[in-house]
Amino acid sequence: MDHEQAFELLPGYVDQELSLSESLAFERHLAGCEHCQHAYRQQRSVSAQLRQADLRVEAPDELVKRIKAALPVRRSLWERLVDRFSNGTRGRSWGLAPVGAMAFSVIALAWSAGLYLSTSSGEARLTQELVDDHIRSLQFNHLSDVISTDRHTVKPWFDGKLDFAPPVVDLAQQGYPLIGGRLDYLNGRTVAVMVYRYKLHPINLYVWPGNDAGAPPPRIDEEKGYRLAHWSAAGMNYWAITDAGESELNGFITNLLAHPAS
Ligand SMILES: [Zn+2]
Repeated sequence: MDHEQAFELLPGYVDQELSLSESLAFERHLAGCEHCQHAYRQQRSVSAQLRQADLRVEAPDELVKRIKAALPVRRSLWERLVDRFSNGTRGRSWGLAPVGAMAFSVIALAWSAGLYLSTSSGEARLTQELVDDHIRSLQFNHLSDVISTDRHTVKPWFDGKLDFAPPVVDLAQQGYPLIGGRLDYLNGRTVAVMVYRYKLHPINLYVWPGNDAGAPPPRIDEEKGYRLAHWSAAGMNYWAITDAGESELNGFITNLLAHPAS
C-alpha cells in the first residue's frame, strides 16, 4: 500500500471501518510513514474531542424535510436513524450533533458502498472474503481445528460436521504436507478447509460442492500480496490461497489434480 492509498484509508481506519486485510495493510504502511502517523494522531484527537464536547445543535425542520425527501426508499431504515438521533422529548424534531452528522455521512457511505458491493461481481466479494479468512486463520493461530499429517485422521474428522465429504489428499511426498483441517463459513455456507504447507508457507484449501460443468481450468490471481487459485473438479469448488509463490501454488494444484482422493 503506497502513501496515497494509505492516506485515503486513514479516516476509515480511525473509524474502524476497514476490513481486516485493509487494516493490516494500513498498519504496515503507518509503521513506516511519519506523515501518516502525524495525520493519524490529528484525526484521532479531533474525533476524541468531538465525542467529548457538548456540541448538539437543532437541525432546522427544513433540512430534515429535505434530507427525508432525498431518501424516498428504505423508509424504515430512515425512521430508525431518526429515532437514533432524535432527542426523544421533542416529538418529531431532532438534534443533530456534528458527531451525529459524521455518523450520518458514515452511514451514507456504508450504504453507497453496500449498493456498490451488491452490484460488483460475486467473485470479487468472495476473493475478499477468502483473503480476510486466510489472514484471520494465521492471525489468531486458528489454522486447524484438527491437527494431523494423516489424511485418515483429517477425513473422518469432517464426518457429521458437513453435508458433503471433502476429498482429502496427502501430498507430503510432493512437498506439500497436509497439516490439518477446519470448518469455516464462506460464501454463505459452511465449507471444509484443508490446510497444507509448502516449506514455511501455509496453503488454505477451501472446498465445497458445486457444479463443475464447463468450469475453466485453474487460474492464479494475486490479491493483497497473496496468491489465489480457483477451480472446480468432480462436483466440488476449490479455492486455494497462500503467500507462497505462483509456481509453488501451481505445483500444489497440479499435484492435487494428479492425486484424486481415495
Ligand atoms: Zn503515508
